[in-house]
Amino acid sequence: MKDTFDREINYLRVSVTDRCDLRCIYCMKEKMEFLPKSEILSSEEVNNICSAFIDLGIKKIRITGGEPLIKKGMPTILDYLGKKINNSNLEELTLTTNGTQLYKYAEVIKKNGIKRINVSLDTLDSKKYLKITRGGNLEKVLEGLKIAKKIGLKVKINTVALKNININELDKMVDWCINKKFDITFIEVMPMDMENDIRLEQYYPLTKVRSFLKKRYSLENTNINTGGPSKYVKIKNSNQKIGFITPLTNNFCESCNRVRLTCTGRIYSCLGHNKFVDLKEALLKSKKHLKALILKSIYLKPRSHEFEIQKESANKNLERTMNVTGG
Ligand code: SAM
Ligand code: SF4
Repeated sequence: MKDTFDREINYLRVSVTDRCDLRCIYCMKEKMEFLPKSEILSSEEVNNICSAFIDLGIKKIRITGGEPLIKKGMPTILDYLGKKINNSNLEELTLTTNGTQLYKYAEVIKKNGIKRINVSLDTLDSKKYLKITRGGNLEKVLEGLKIAKKIGLKVKINTVALKNININELDKMVDWCINKKFDITFIEVMPMDMENDIRLEQYYPLTKVRSFLKKRYSLENTNINTGGPSKYVKIKNSNQKIGFITPLTNNFCESCNRVRLTCTGRIYSCLGHNKFVDLKEALLKSKKHLKALILKSIYLKPRSHEFEIQKESANKNLERTMNVTGG
């Protein structure tokens, strides 16, 4: 599938639920109101939509949320999509998780053909972890990571840079990842759900993180391109990769290869726009109808995102939280 800017679209990110067992301060409100269950796609509906996308040329699917591993139908989705790997256009299935349930699910994930997972972790300090996630237990995540590593899942850690919260330990996170042989990607806070300007207070530019890390490590630029927003550097004389996702300091849209399916069945062809195509009704009709709407969403994919973190533009930002659209 090609969009109107001649970009090949072959990557689908799927939010399977808006629910989560954590309440990260940059993602959710403390008192979250989740969507009515009746609005959330069932695992069968997720599978049907993914199947239509795969028929149309999607080669890579990332399952995300909310927290995907707390969805009841997750084993059904993993089983269905796992069987599609290399038996269809689908070449890779991956997962982004907060890691709290990894100790239970690492084996199932591996068994269903997933080779790489992203695990979100913003600190190695259990008290700080509890605060950032509003209640999370770091030990459980570390236990899950240990099992994942042991059974051979490749892990990338996602760390959001948070002003006045974890900036002073980002080098420790890198050291820990080197030790564990995990890659790491730093992420700038994105202006989703800008209520009370909280994101503005949390935002810390990755240009500063990069300068800080450059003083400690010998970093080499790479031309690794996953078609996504990450720019990678390598630590000299090692295989250790460090990624930077910088939607606010560096526009990455020209090589964008992805679209997003929300847990309610909407396709957002750009994370940074409010326009969407709703697939829910088409699910009741036919696969042909579903595919026509998917193609329409690709046609509507905008040239670039509209993220801005400046205070005066806060009201222009996105009313959706990351858990519904899928980060
Ligand atoms: N619950 C899973 C997890 O935390 O990995 C998957 C969903 S979470 C929404 C996916 C990613 O989005 C996480 O790496 C998280 O750090 C990131 N994220 C959430 N809100 C964000 C925000 N406002 N800005 C930047 N990244 C955000
Ligand atoms: Fe949950 Fe992930 Fe959002 Fe944290 S970032 S609240 S783990 S969905």
